[in-house]
Amino acid sequence: MPDKPNTWDIALRQFHEVAELLNLDPGLREYLSVPEAVHTFSVPVLRDNDETHVFTGIRSQHSFARGPAKGGLRFHPGVSIDEVKALSMWMTWKTAVVNVPFGGGKGGLICDYKSFSPREKERAARSFARRLTPVIGPEIDIPAPDVNTTPEVMAWIADEYGHYIGHPEPAVITGKPVDFGGSRGRDSATGRGLAYCVDRYYHNTGKSLEGQRVVIQGFGNAGQWAAKVLTTMGATIIAISDSRGAVYAPEGLSATGAIQHKLESGQVAGMPGEEVKHEELLELDCDILVPAALESVITAENAPRIKAKLIAEAANGPTTPDADTILHDRGVVVIPDVLANAGGVTVSYFEWVQNRQRYYWPEQKVFDRLQKGMRQALDEVQDLAESKNVPWRTAAYMLAIQRVAHAVEVNHPDF
Ligand code: GLU
Repeated sequence: MPDKPNTWDIALRQFHEVAELLNLDPGLREYLSVPEAVHTFSVPVLRDNDETHVFTGIRSQHSFARGPAKGGLRFHPGVSIDEVKALSMWMTWKTAVVNVPFGGGKGGLICDYKSFSPREKERAARSFARRLTPVIGPEIDIPAPDVNTTPEVMAWIADEYGHYIGHPEPAVITGKPVDFGGSRGRDSATGRGLAYCVDRYYHNTGKSLEGQRVVIQGFGNAGQWAAKVLTTMGATIIAISDSRGAVYAPEGLSATGAIQHKLESGQVAGMPGEEVKHEELLELDCDILVPAALESVITAENAPRIKAKLIAEAANGPTTPDADTILHDRGVVVIPDVLANAGGVTVSYFEWVQNRQRYYWPEQKVFDRLQKGMRQALDEVQDLAESKNVPWRTAAYMLAIQRVAHAVEVNHPDF
């Protein structure tokens, strides 16, 4: 097995390729190629056996040019400074693609969070929150959920922040439970936004989503909601996987049944259908492939064998740059992460607005505004990709980098 590519190298390579195409001013290029700030913290956690273990927490604030930094927190053993830096840069482009008034940030806690007991989970989140507090705020940096971080984790962090500043401030973090200042519709927003993108793409290309066969790699929040909403739009889910296994059912499987099974047994394995290997899943005969887990799963090695005609990235960074080139040459359209999964941060923006106004929207209003935003962003990216004959990721980056660069030029006396 080749080493996993370095995510920060990938993010930089993607950025420099588009900066070159745009002929971006060298000073601006240098400025945007490093995060504005990277914080690391020692996070002590009292374990249930009375031992205290110290974990590393990270928060990278890549850009404040278009507003407060914005992006999730992931609690996972694979987190590293380079990964968090890359994810924060991708957030800068993502918020710009969907035009929400935020910059880009990301954080992580390096730990096997899934193996923690419920009490350890709360202690770890609160300990990290107390260290994060001085560098976040509703006008500074607004965290959100990401891998392994739930609405409950967001509530603990908001609670710690409120104690620190002396009063509740729900707008410091998004993705909170609805009863604790969260927005209706935030939970489903990433998967739903992806489904809106896919639906719009089919509409724009004069085709129907009815009966299109979908493979979903990764069955966390984004994968589950993508499966559910795509099903309601007429698509057929034929295979799903999670970190423990993969199931293939060529005649189609029930998204709600799969979600129920995962809820009850903690895994997708054991569902009706044929068990397949992780590597096989990505290469199954299908129309739409939705990578919804972690980075760099579609590589130069497997890209030539991928049969999907459309890839919609629910995960951040699932496709390496070499794979992107191969897929583009083969005519496979990739709706990139910074567009396809931007529904999450779009509804996070709605949540922040509702928190600031202390005025809460009905669910349908959230869905309607999300759909409008996703369609507009998709149309802009598709138009540019087709008129310039470039991969969709390149087109999305062109739009985003221009918006961010413009904000820096307007605001910053040194540019
Ligand atoms: N973690 C999500 C992402 O990668 C959501 C970020 C947010 O809502 O701020 O887009």
